[in-house]
Amino acid sequence: MSSRRIQIFDTTLRDGEQSPGIALRPEEKAEVAEQLERLGVDVIEAGFAAASPGDFEGVRAVAAVARRATIATLCRTRREDLDAGADALREARRSRIHIFLATSPIHMQKKLRLTPDEVVAQAAWAVAYARARVDEVEFSCEDATRSDPSFVARVCREVIAAGADVVNLPDTVGFALPNEYSWFFGEVGRLCPELESVTVSAHCHDDLGLAVANSLAAVEAGVGQVECTVNGIGERAGNAALEEIVMALRVRHDSLGVETGIDPAEIGPSSALVARLTGYDVPPNKAIVGANAFAHEAGIHQDGLLKDTATYQIIEPKELGLAMTLPLGKHSGRHAFARACTEAGLQLDEKLLTQAFMRFKALADTGQHVSLNQLFVEVTAA
Ligand code: MN
Repeated sequence: MSSRRIQIFDTTLRDGEQSPGIALRPEEKAEVAEQLERLGVDVIEAGFAAASPGDFEGVRAVAAVARRATIATLCRTRREDLDAGADALREARRSRIHIFLATSPIHMQKKLRLTPDEVVAQAAWAVAYARARVDEVEFSCEDATRSDPSFVARVCREVIAAGADVVNLPDTVGFALPNEYSWFFGEVGRLCPELESVTVSAHCHDDLGLAVANSLAAVEAGVGQVECTVNGIGERAGNAALEEIVMALRVRHDSLGVETGIDPAEIGPSSALVARLTGYDVPPNKAIVGANAFAHEAGIHQDGLLKDTATYQIIEPKELGLAMTLPLGKHSGRHAFARACTEAGLQLDEKLLTQAFMRFKALADTGQHVSLNQLFVEVTAA
């Protein structure tokens, strides 16, 4: 199957950092950016330069350390935002201003108090203003999925004429269903054929738990860039998780035919660094990077895995810098138990192994943590 390469736009340091309670210092943002470059992301959104003096410094610190990735900063359609953005990006090897303005009726009427004509005019003005100051300009129709596709198409046409290189149609509030999001890209593309001359982007939130599914639907609809965060951190329920999108594209390349520049071996280290610096722990059952993502306790599964890991694992955890574990518990079987005893250096004959396993099951049933060494002492003393 022929393959197409999409861009990974990482917004861990902007949308991810907007999670309640996270405030990364400039040197911490630089450390994450260096890891994101090892991971292989194409674009690093480093912050919102006009949001605070600290965030301005954060964007500057990332622009100074990055060697390969394009560095982006978010801006409103205001001269002071665009000036601060361009200033913070001065040292970037490749710079991108990311401008957003809402296009949905509720945002235009209630939040912006602008008419549709005013929105079009502000968007086009801001893109043209930014175009002269940085290498690339991205424009986002905020709340695109709750907007009229024909109005979104009109905004897209105007910002492309003003010089936008990338047009993002975000599901800002995590409202879309996968088939609707896919249809939306098709419909806006049909109404605005000029989109074929720029990179079209998707940006999804997880309010309904659909951020990754929606991102993949957008990829199937043909977008060239996906915006996401490490560990799926972000506003409210979070953004689409980078590691989940990348591994879905990798494991299901047979169906999707899409590649990224991500090095899977850097996924585990990236997840650990972001969790440590943000204080946002990864839930144990989180896909790809959760502590239990490659842990198998059930006896039937353990037995299968010991015969061939492909029986119950669709991903080789070593590829991600992670390891498979076979924790012992009430659901574990004799096969895995025997292997754990051998690995712990405990020599048991068949009779003692049977006794130890029965004692282990009795203890595990009560939910107690069982020490193999303690068990060994008990059965050999009996
Ligand atoms: Mn967002």
